[in-house]
Amino acid sequence: CGIVGYVGGQSALDVVVAGLKRLEYRGYDSAGVAVLADGGLAAAKKAGKLVNLEKALVEAPLPAGATGIGHTRWATHGGPTDTNAHPHLDNAGRVAVVHNGIIENFAALRAELAERGHALASETDTEVVAHLLAECYSSSEDLAEAMRQVCRRLEGAFTLVAVHADEPDVVVGARRNSPLVVGVGEGEAFLASDVAAFIAHTRSALELGQDQVVEVRRDAVVVTDFDGAPAETRAYHVDWDA
Ligand code: GLU
Repeated sequence: CGIVGYVGGQSALDVVVAGLKRLEYRGYDSAGVAVLADGGLAAAKKAGKLVNLEKALVEAPLPAGATGIGHTRWATHGGPTDTNAHPHLDNAGRVAVVHNGIIENFAALRAELAERGHALASETDTEVVAHLLAECYSSSEDLAEAMRQVCRRLEGAFTLVAVHADEPDVVVGARRNSPLVVGVGEGEAFLASDVAAFIAHTRSALELGQDQVVEVRRDAVVVTDFDGAPAETRAYHVDWDA
């Protein structure tokens, strides 16, 4: 329902949780975050309001990191439980993904992944994406390329944002029939389902077009279509107050 991604010089966890709060008006039933730190990936997720997640983060703090993603979920596939909350991880715990929308062909993809030995933990349509990204990453070793390969296999509507522990300075996003905006700051970048998540930090935004993948770093934004061809985006200044 609400998505935030961050890479930059601030604490990713603080920026992501504050961003999720700005998206609370959308309504949601669970929330979660993942950060890249110390060569690994750490995640926390909780059913219920953001305050439940914040409590969990006080009881079991995540390591400090400069790259992170977060999600508030409005359940469509699988009830609002801790396990079904996003982010979803692959079995090695190296990739994390958050998703808005519905992956229509998830049942076929789940069956295919199970046959190849993947153990899926949740009842969501989203979790297949984490496992497919891990598979594609192992051959491409490029998260944006892995995202493009996975998107070509997905049917339905989606905004996806993902991180991989092997690319600690990168956040990747993709969209089809669901919104995704990039916030371009000074030495930092944001991905979000709504500019409200990052206007406290930057007013400089890029709106992703249909069927595009974006790779953001602290000082670079690269946008392509699902086949890897360079793509145009609309740059604009967010001038409303929120
Ligand atoms: N279909 C996904 C799920 O149920 C994402 C829901 C959302 O957009 O928050 O987990």
